[in-house]
Amino acid sequence: MTLLRLEEVHAAYDESQVLTGVSLEIAKGELVTLLGRNGAGKTTTLRTIMGLLPPLSGRISFKGQQISGLVPNRIAKLGVGYVPEERGIFPSLTVSENLMFPSWGRGETGWSLERIYHFFPRLHERAAHKGSQLSGGEQQMLAIARILRAKMDLLLLDEPTEGLAPLLVETIGTILKEIKASGLTVLLVEQNTRFACQIAERHHILYGGRIVHTCSNDEFMRDMDIQHKYLGV
Ligand code: ATP
Repeated sequence: MTLLRLEEVHAAYDESQVLTGVSLEIAKGELVTLLGRNGAGKTTTLRTIMGLLPPLSGRISFKGQQISGLVPNRIAKLGVGYVPEERGIFPSLTVSENLMFPSWGRGETGWSLERIYHFFPRLHERAAHKGSQLSGGEQQMLAIARILRAKMDLLLLDEPTEGLAPLLVETIGTILKEIKASGLTVLLVEQNTRFACQIAERHHILYGGRIVHTCSNDEFMRDMDIQHKYLGV
């Protein structure tokens, strides 16, 4: 079943057009990536799905319902969770307070606090620390945990491994695999191609404001031309 569908989505910041017809589909339960060079428009694609940047044209549907044109609150309420590159936590609140706000109007129907702390022991240890006192990796875990608390259906994740030490990158990979196993669908923006290949089933490659290639992970790993041409790997 298709969970998210983008058809010919165009988006721009003022005069500068960034997305020039993005089309992609994500099935329920998949963990897929959006890959592309710096400035390709990956973050812009996530922001457009989330309603933070209204598309100029094109259609975005989620669970069969048209969501383009809705405000971010409404889109979140339908079950789309977004963790931006800058993480999206409350820095002045403690870890436990951050987790008290299941937020986005979906009620406390997601993971219980106990389950979150069992899954993220590090957050349990740091429960009384403020968001601003956490390391980059801990902030990333907290941002993901907040989405799990709210029981979203789709997680939009922007470069979760950025700036993290290799061991933490591995931890985030394990967490994402387990989250997928629990039934959540994930659209992951990544610059770290190696990491992307370790965890994703399929990849969408964004180039020149459009998706120029979609392939399975196996195909992607074999095709050095694609990696070289569109990602400069
Ligand atoms: P990166 O990996 O560097 O974050 P990206 O693929 O996520 O790249 P975007 O952040 O979506 O790319 O940016 C796409 C283009 O839009 C870039 O040329 C960028 O300079 C421009 N852009 C991004 N945000 C804004 C903004 N708020 N106002 C104007 N232009 C912007």
